[in-house]
Amino acid sequence: MLWVVGVGLSEDHITEEGKKAIRSAEKVYGSRRAVEVARRYIRGEVEVLSRFGKEAYDMIERESEFKDVAVLSTGDPMVAGLGRFFRGARIVPGISSVQIALARLGVDLCDVIVVNAHSRDDLPENCGRSMLILAKKGVEVDFPGRRVTVLERLCSSQERIYEVNGSFTVKDDYTVVFVR
Ligand code: SAH
Repeated sequence: MLWVVGVGLSEDHITEEGKKAIRSAEKVYGSRRAVEVARRYIRGEVEVLSRFGKEAYDMIERESEFKDVAVLSTGDPMVAGLGRFFRGARIVPGISSVQIALARLGVDLCDVIVVNAHSRDDLPENCGRSMLILAKKGVEVDFPGRRVTVLERLCSSQERIYEVNGSFTVKDDYTVVFVR
């Protein structure tokens, strides 16, 4: 059995369903951060994923044919996450950085466009709608005249939320940028 479990941004976010899947897994894969968040619930062998790609995912799929395997994804597996890479996996949703950002901002998901500038370079043109951008260090945000809120390291002791004017270079890998 293969589970892809969203662990949220902090230990408090892991759902009961997620805890069950993690506890029952004989083998657990995940980034260092995802493993750290779920540490308390892991009973099986842990392998920190350092290579992300088809070869690694195929190998995990094959292993899950004869073992219970959990792949941990930070936030939600279906938000720029690992969920889409595994066929036949049971995906357990988690609380995403998108949801936390919207909660901090008091903005409804249906009123924004969510953009992945973390693993893709598809920052859209100034499209006139509010945008919530998953960003990492070095991403250039350039929307002159728009109000921009930067949300860094959400749910950690280093959480910081501040406003900048339209142009800004992202300074931290764990950053969501809201353009209104
Ligand atoms: N599946 C994850 C997103 C993975 S892509 C989720 O649902 O949250 C990684 C991007 O998510 C980062 O580049 C950043 O834009 C965002 N992110 C992840 N953790 C974050 C945090 N603690 N604070 C702010 N943004 C975060």
